[in-house]
Amino acid sequence: MSKRLLSRVLNGLRLNDLMRSTKRNQLTILSLHRISNENDYFFDPIRPDVFEELIKYALKNYQIISFEELSENKESYKKPPLIFSFDDGYYDFYEYALPILVKYKLPSNHNIVNECANSNSMIWTQRLNNIFNHCKNNNLELNFETDGFNENITKSKNNWIQFYSKIFFHLSKLKKEQRLKVIKDKEDQLSISAECKMMSWEQIKECSKYDVEIGSHSYSHDSIPSLIDEGALTFEILNSKNEIEKHIERPVSIIALPNGQGDERVNEVIRRSGYKYLLYVNDAINNLKTLSGKHPIILNRVNLINESIYEMILRTELFQSKLRGLRGRL
Ligand SMILES: [Zn+2]
Repeated sequence: MSKRLLSRVLNGLRLNDLMRSTKRNQLTILSLHRISNENDYFFDPIRPDVFEELIKYALKNYQIISFEELSENKESYKKPPLIFSFDDGYYDFYEYALPILVKYKLPSNHNIVNECANSNSMIWTQRLNNIFNHCKNNNLELNFETDGFNENITKSKNNWIQFYSKIFFHLSKLKKEQRLKVIKDKEDQLSISAECKMMSWEQIKECSKYDVEIGSHSYSHDSIPSLIDEGALTFEILNSKNEIEKHIERPVSIIALPNGQGDERVNEVIRRSGYKYLLYVNDAINNLKTLSGKHPIILNRVNLINESIYEMILRTELFQSKLRGLRGRL
C-alpha cells in the first residue's frame, strides 16, 4: 500500500482524532516554509490548495492562536491551541498564504531574514537549491571542488538527495564569505541568474498589519552556532531584532534559528537581546503548563513538507514521530 493511501485509510479510521484527543493542554506549532505551485526537487513547496485544506482541518479541530495570545491567556482553550509558524520570508507567503490566512481571519507568525529584505537577495539555501535543480533538470555535470573537498553526483551513486545533503552539510560549516563565494562561482559557471523570491520590507510590513507576527530568522541565515566571534553572533541576533522593529514599528519577541537548534551560548545572546520565544523544529508539541519561567521560552515545532493532506494531518498529530519512536524501541 502506498504511503499516501495508507495515510488516507488511517485518517478514515479517525486515528487523527484519537491522537489529537491526547493534546489537552498541549500547544501545537506547525513549521512551514514555501507555499507555491512551483516545483523544487530539493525543497518542494506546499501547494496553496493543500495549504487551504490544512487550514480547514485546523479550524475544525484546533483553536488557532498567535504568540501574543499565548502570553495573555494560557489555559482557557476550548480546543487544543495551534500556531502557524513560517520561516525564511519567501515572497510566495505574500502571494499565496497571506490571502488564505486573511480569508479565514487567522493569525500567523513569520520569521524573516533581514539581509534578504535589505538587498532583495535569496537565502543561500535557496540559491543552492536553484543550482541543484538546474543541473538535475538539464542533466548537467555538477561537482564541488574546493580545498581538498571533492564531491560529484557519481560519488553519490546518482542519488541527488544524498549529493545535495553532502554539499549542504559542507557549506553550512564554512564561513559565510567562503560559502557565498562557492555558490556565486557555481551560479556564474552555470549562468544561473538569481531571481528574487523573498519579501521586501514593504511586504513584510503589510503582513504585520494583517495579523502576521513578524519574528527573526537571524540577520543573514548564517549557521548561527558555528559563529565563534561574539560580535558576529550578536549582529545576527540583536541587530536583526532592532532592524525589524524599526521597519514594522512593532516589538519583535520571536526568533527561529536557521537550519535547526542553537546551544547554551547562542541562547544566552538571545536572552540578552530581549526575545521571549525561541522556536525549534523537532517534531514535538508543547505542554502549556511549562510555558513560563526564564526567557527565552523554548518552543517545539512540527515540520510540514509537501505531502498529501492526509499525510500532513497525520504529521500534525505526530503520528510519524510516534511511529519512529515505536520502531526505535522494537
Ligand atoms: Zn530557514
